[in-house]
Amino acid sequence: MLRTGVAVLFATALGATAFHASAAAPSASAVIAAASKAMGADNLNSIKIYGVAANYNVGQNNNANGEWPRTNLNDYYRWIDFNAGASRATAQTFAPPVTGPTAVAGRFNQAISPTQNGWAQQSEIWTTPWGFLKGAAKNNATVATEKVGARTMKVVTWNTPQKAPSGKAYKVVGYIGPSNMVERVDTWIENPVLGDMLVRSNYSEYREVDGVKFPAKIVRVSAGQTSFDAQLLGADANPTDLAANITNPPPAGGGAGGPPGGGGGGAAAAPPPSTQLAPDVYKINGAYNAVAVGFKDYVVLFEAGPQNEARALAVIAETKRLFPGKTIKYGVITHHHFDHTGGIVAPVSEGITIVTPAVNKAFLMRALTTPRTLAPDAMSKSGKKPIIEGFTGDKRVFSDANHSLEVHVVKGLPHADGIVIGWLPKEKVLIYADMFNLPTAADPVPNPPVVGTQIFLANLERLGIEPERIVSIHALNPDRLTSMADIRASLGIKK
Ligand SMILES: [Zn+2]
Repeated sequence: MLRTGVAVLFATALGATAFHASAAAPSASAVIAAASKAMGADNLNSIKIYGVAANYNVGQNNNANGEWPRTNLNDYYRWIDFNAGASRATAQTFAPPVTGPTAVAGRFNQAISPTQNGWAQQSEIWTTPWGFLKGAAKNNATVATEKVGARTMKVVTWNTPQKAPSGKAYKVVGYIGPSNMVERVDTWIENPVLGDMLVRSNYSEYREVDGVKFPAKIVRVSAGQTSFDAQLLGADANPTDLAANITNPPPAGGGAGGPPGGGGGGAAAAPPPSTQLAPDVYKINGAYNAVAVGFKDYVVLFEAGPQNEARALAVIAETKRLFPGKTIKYGVITHHHFDHTGGIVAPVSEGITIVTPAVNKAFLMRALTTPRTLAPDAMSKSGKKPIIEGFTGDKRVFSDANHSLEVHVVKGLPHADGIVIGWLPKEKVLIYADMFNLPTAADPVPNPPVVGTQIFLANLERLGIEPERIVSIHALNPDRLTSMADIRASLGIKK
């Protein structure tokens, strides 16, 4: 289900499901009232649920076609206040950091306050079985019936008071089974990469405590892959500890600490929009850097769609300023993770060919051809279709008489299949993302060593690359170019 589900999701456009209303169908209010009564939700103002759960990080999978990565949530508790529109979940986490093997315990705290009125947040409350019915009762729901497999479900649909950036309300569609339990709730939320993203919450194995029904099993599926699941052990209607638990505790330590390391003397001046590294080679500065390389007939942008649409449009604008009259023909992405592709609609809207290893092509094509009715973006407004060059083999080289930009697929890095580095052999400039963080001054040679740094070095040795200047896509603090001496020193290698 997990892997094949992607195609299913992408095919399900907003509102594409055909409902078959029957002349004899009961009214929506009667259906909602019957479900509310059966579920014991009539007098439910708040609820506490608990058990074990897992969160999955949408957009950060190791392979563009794989499952969202999972974080186990042990000792999971959640309080929901339907009157206020607030929710808080807590749990214990215990997982190894991405940089090394020793697991560390952590606290999970997810609070949604009534002032966080965006649908991405509030949907967490109003797509629960009880929240769905309360939202339906207040928002002019309609009802139809639909055959799902062999069963006839009552399908209740309502629109949210929240409006999407397009001005449209969000749609919420709940499936109520023959025993009047809410078995599934669908909604669509805007996503910068995935467009109108279907979020489907499945509720099953209902149990009862003090007259209130709760699903022992919850599986939420976002963009065709599980994004949250839970096995609930119990529930508590109108819990007496609601007020004490509905907000996050203040941060430990009793006050705002000092600024992060390297501070002092007020905010640093904003960096220039770009820095020239060599003739026709510019670093476009930002929290996520990009590199523009001017060839005779065109420009290549390395990391063409970082962060979000606004940032990617700014990168493109600066590149156009640096190379007036020249077309940005190609936009390389380092990897598919959403923090590196959250602005990918910008280069697509410019007709720029996205260059990435073949492993990412099918995913990007599906993602970038989903409807974008909730949040129209540069791509949907431009009417441009994505052009994705999924290159096969280990490298893609752009070159002319003056310059060469080699794009190499990194081997052996678990972070993301098809992650690439950029290499300018003439300028001896190397560009990388997400392989490692350089250690802090307090711990200059981490033990155990950072695996990503070792893999970085192994790849450069395999390729026979010896850079003089190294650009990190993620701006360093302070942002700067580094050297092989810095990299080797962080592994304790003296050279
Ligand atoms: Zn990444």
